[in-house]
Amino acid sequence: MTKPRAFTAVLATETNTFSPIRIDINAFRASLLARPGEHPETPTLCSAVMTVGRRFARENGWELIEGTAAWADPAGLVSRQTFEGLRDEILDQVAAGGPFDVVVIGLHGAMVADGYDDPEGDLLSRIRSIIGPDVPIIATFDPHSHLTAKRVAAADALIAFKEFPHIDFVDRAEDAWRIAGQAVAGEVKPVMSVYDPKMIDVFPTTSEPMRRFVDDMIRLEKETPDLLSLSVIHGFMAGDVPEMGTRLLAVTNNAPVLGQKMARDLGEALFELRGKVRSIELTPADAYARALEFDGGPVTIADMWDNPGGGTAGDATVLLAEAMARNLECIAFGSIWDPVAVQLCHAAGEGAQMMLRFGAKSAPETGDPIDAEVEIVRNIRNAEQAFGQSIVPIGDASLIRIGGIEVILNSTRAQCFDTSLFSNFGIDPAKRKILVVKSTNHFHQSFARISPLILYCAAGRPYPNDPRVTPYKKAPRDIWPINEIAPANGHETKTSAGSAGRRGG
Ligand SMILES: [Zn+2]
Repeated sequence: MTKPRAFTAVLATETNTFSPIRIDINAFRASLLARPGEHPETPTLCSAVMTVGRRFARENGWELIEGTAAWADPAGLVSRQTFEGLRDEILDQVAAGGPFDVVVIGLHGAMVADGYDDPEGDLLSRIRSIIGPDVPIIATFDPHSHLTAKRVAAADALIAFKEFPHIDFVDRAEDAWRIAGQAVAGEVKPVMSVYDPKMIDVFPTTSEPMRRFVDDMIRLEKETPDLLSLSVIHGFMAGDVPEMGTRLLAVTNNAPVLGQKMARDLGEALFELRGKVRSIELTPADAYARALEFDGGPVTIADMWDNPGGGTAGDATVLLAEAMARNLECIAFGSIWDPVAVQLCHAAGEGAQMMLRFGAKSAPETGDPIDAEVEIVRNIRNAEQAFGQSIVPIGDASLIRIGGIEVILNSTRAQCFDTSLFSNFGIDPAKRKILVVKSTNHFHQSFARISPLILYCAAGRPYPNDPRVTPYKKAPRDIWPINEIAPANGHETKTSAGSAGRRGG
């Protein structure tokens, strides 16, 4: 018997179309650009399909053909040359390496490239036209993505991370390969059903009501025969594209009636939670007041909207300036992006004292650059932090001290995922009174272990976090909260035709 042959590749970034930071091939090189066979053993957020695929192939006696894996940290528009170059590289690998029994792709799903509102839909449909209608295409997504009709038409099963923070990215890659195995064995025929609840919001799953919502989805997946996977595409409000918004997605074993019902029931339940799922957002003054009156520590304050993981620069200084004005002590910031300041700190060397200007250079409404006499405490080349089983590079970096305030400066943009961001610089995060992190919610799991109080703070306006006032040009206007009275009902669920429909059968 010949071994089943599978192809896997990764093309992922998240595009905040309002971000000033453009993406070219160097941004992929800085985060992950692994040619066939070069992918490290540890997965990044969107490339777990490759590392899990290796294990799946070993355990099941499959032949795995690896393509390119590319991931750039979230930012603004991807240049046309970069997207087309990486896309065509993967398409050439598909054309040259086939025939395949299944194709499993790791995507983020919120990429926007110059000239392409739906690069992932473009990639998937071009793969489809190479491999023909019958070979299953399975892909994993970040829930902060856009579920376009083109993607659903091109693929057989799409699976999004359920958790935000996305601690389950390896689990979802395992789902993808399990469904791939069942489809290749002829045990299942995946079909997708989609429901559009006509809304957009931010859905942290670490607190209610979303915690219960996700637990219910996991229970339904286990209990319901012929239900292969359930996903909530949260949507990504910083992406100004025509199909921006939340979607519910059910993958069934050729049971579209069941899939439509599951997607609709979940979508209607989610719509009922509108306006009740976001974290409580404090002003900087209120966040510091609450942190200072709290007996014990450390208190973690999330600078939640200057999140490089959402495509911002990550160089806002609003919270730091407020801390300096209040002469706060025993407070550490992780981190502020400023590659030029890092260069100056590395040139000066550890132990040096000097005047330094840093931060707030990239976008309006992020505060002003800080001018301060700083002590350079620690310089690290190619610094990094952990995130679950993955390693996240932050580039050359420096720890500086201004009185009782410690600030990590980094040169590769990255949100704060993990307390190791601090401990790698010799800071014991548990011994600080206040930790300030740039992240919307991914920091939560790691910091909750050491921090008895976590506060979310909206400082400045680095990110388009209020869809009612965001100057969209392409995104739909008939969704909540842009339209406060958007109806939950009357939106038909859709089911993909699967391979039979693609053949016209
Ligand atoms: Zn995400």
